[in-house]
Amino acid sequence: MIKTAEVVIIGGGISGLSIAYNLANKGVKDVVVLEKSYLASGSTGRCGAGIRQQWGTEMNCRLAKLSCDFFENAKEELEYDGDIEFKQGGYLILSSTEREHEQFKKNVAFQNSLGIPSKLLTLDEAKEIVPFLNTDGLVSATYCKKDGHLNPFYTTEAYAKAAERLGVKIYKFTEVIDIIVENGKIKGVKTNKGDISTNIVVNAAGGYSQVIADMAGVDIPVYSERHQILVTEPIEPILGPMVMSFSLNLYCQQVPHGGIIMGRGDENEPRDFRVTSGWHFLDEMTKTITKILPPLKNVRIIRQWAGLYNITPDRQPILGPVDEVEGFYLAVGFSGHGFMFGPATGILMAEKILGEETTLPIDMLHLNRFE
Ligand code: FAD
Repeated sequence: MIKTAEVVIIGGGISGLSIAYNLANKGVKDVVVLEKSYLASGSTGRCGAGIRQQWGTEMNCRLAKLSCDFFENAKEELEYDGDIEFKQGGYLILSSTEREHEQFKKNVAFQNSLGIPSKLLTLDEAKEIVPFLNTDGLVSATYCKKDGHLNPFYTTEAYAKAAERLGVKIYKFTEVIDIIVENGKIKGVKTNKGDISTNIVVNAAGGYSQVIADMAGVDIPVYSERHQILVTEPIEPILGPMVMSFSLNLYCQQVPHGGIIMGRGDENEPRDFRVTSGWHFLDEMTKTITKILPPLKNVRIIRQWAGLYNITPDRQPILGPVDEVEGFYLAVGFSGHGFMFGPATGILMAEKILGEETTLPIDMLHLNRFE
């Protein structure tokens, strides 16, 4: 393992690898990524990998749009020899109350003003997109045809290979056990395979971001929470878009190999690092989804699993430097949306680290907003 680096990035998920690629692409030498397990072993390889631009806040809309534009050309930009499986089948977001419907109307107008081509749909129009949608109890839907889904493993690999071609060193199965800070400045990291001296450390450790921040003596207001997900057997293509509902607490998408993935949150989840998966989720998920998409009751589930959401108080990520420790940067707290923001995270973090003007103004994502 090398002994010194210009930048050390902790975490081999979509965020860490996107940051590494963007730094190297801007000419930074000696960029190192440290990953305690295999690449995408954290939330990235466990996620729904849905990409939506339909958000209610300007920042999330802009982060998602920047990322979505990148995903459309990712294969070429990253010179990937495989297929990242970007399926732009849209997101169909269902409203089940008048209040939700009114809010969605405002959201669509706002999204359109930012160049996001979302639309408000009647239930009949929604059924043209998903003919077997059970609209009982629903009010309306919104749809953005440019939203979609990717394969998170291939996407991560595409970034990793592109980064390595540009000279980034990726050390897998290498765990950071401490961060060396002297006089308020980053001096290096300690790993289970040796130490690396550096003046810049990026915390992109996903569900473990608070543990890494702790090593640098920084308290960040995030917590981790388990989220579960499942996949069915592959069947013939029946579902174009991601179907999702906030009030019914579900998302569901057919991926290119034919399997249907779906997930939902649980408000009783404790704040911890468990990634086990259980019966309660399976029971709730199947009951909820078969009400809205009845034919799925005939499809067999083949696997369920879980990963961590790393959550901030305002559900928006923390991106940028930590004022109290020079050279320490955060790309954390994605609150369940970090895969779709991956490209934007890489671009914006590289710009911040290099002191450049950022493509989007991101000062409002600084850690100090929580002071
Ligand atoms: P991670 O992918 O978690 O990567 C962090 C890495 O850091 C890990 O690989 C970990 O092993 C490593 N690490 C931790 N500690 C150390 C250490 N001490 N030393 C070295 N390495 C370390 N997002 C979306 O955009 N769309 C979705 O549809 C979506 N669905 C989701 C569904 C589920 C069930 C879950 C759990 C998440 C979902 N997310 C989704 C959220 C998304 O997965 C995350 O926000 C995103 O993957 C975060 O990427 P990351 O690179 O920041 O973190």
